[in-house]
Amino acid sequence: LEAQLLTANREPALTADGVSVSLLANIERADEATLVSDYNAAGVGLYRSEYLFLDTGRIPTEEEQTLAYTRVAEALAPQPVTIRTLDLGGDKLIGGGGGGLQFFASHKEKEENPFLGFRAIRLCLEYTEMFKDQLRAILRASAHGNVRLMYPMISGAEELARANALLEQCKAELRTAGVPFDEALPVGAMIEIPSAAMTVDVLAQSCAFFSIGTNDLIQYLLAIDRVNDRIAHLYEPTHPAVLRTLRRVIDEAHAAKLPVSLCGEVGGDPVLAPLLIGLGIDSLSMTPPLIPAVRYVVRNLTMQQARELADRALALGDPKAIHALCLDFYRDHM
Ligand code: PEP
Ligand code: MG
Repeated sequence: LEAQLLTANREPALTADGVSVSLLANIERADEATLVSDYNAAGVGLYRSEYLFLDTGRIPTEEEQTLAYTRVAEALAPQPVTIRTLDLGGDKLIGGGGGGLQFFASHKEKEENPFLGFRAIRLCLEYTEMFKDQLRAILRASAHGNVRLMYPMISGAEELARANALLEQCKAELRTAGVPFDEALPVGAMIEIPSAAMTVDVLAQSCAFFSIGTNDLIQYLLAIDRVNDRIAHLYEPTHPAVLRTLRRVIDEAHAAKLPVSLCGEVGGDPVLAPLLIGLGIDSLSMTPPLIPAVRYVVRNLTMQQARELADRALALGDPKAIHALCLDFYRDHM
């Protein structure tokens, strides 16, 4: 299998009947850009920008951010680099232990429910100067490659509109200063909150692509804390509610003629990949070492088989039965 995976690594991510399923890399740091070519990814589907903040333990300047983002964009051009804006909060904190967002002066208190709290886009829409530094840095990097910008934890159209308004301000500032950026920079929203999943048609009016964050989406759909070991056995990616939500998001995105990617952990699970492909996902973004196994899976199924698997899975009501169905498919075809 090792040898097969290595061979698969050099082959295009096409199904046996020739449909392309783009396989992208999740990265956390600029120096991981080299993994994209190592694993023959088609680009970066998720660059978790918060690690630059976590690593430095403070808010990096616009210049520092521009340097990091440009480095990745330049290294990978013309391949796409999807930079996600700051997703701090929840389990990702800066400013020391204790679980609080001590870094942010006015938010020293520990939150009772950090995953339902002051996190990601919510935080950015309050610390707008910090957010705009990041938006300008991403815009500036976009002059050096194929950059896409993505907002985390969007819960509805108003947040998307407010973020986009700040982005427009940043563009205007850069134009005035004569600083180049990609005027056609694609802007996308992560779908990782049920309210976003239910309003994809509305969000589609204000963005160019979607990426489903199943790590959070599953947590919020099933009310299972993604980092609580005590209930980890209840965190079931094959819960019918998850499947129905994915089907809905993908169908609504396609109805609006927008592409939809998936960048949560399930995207790198070779047993679940056929189901996701059958549901119609356009691309899968994952931690790079998982790409060869998923590529192997893509190349050994047909769209027809994957669609049939998805239809059969959607007809079942039990998460374990759905998982068993996927496992059987995997064993039969791989
Ligand atoms: C997700 O929620 O699925 C995701 C990719 O984002 P993160 O794991 O960084 O929250
Ligand atoms: Mg997330």
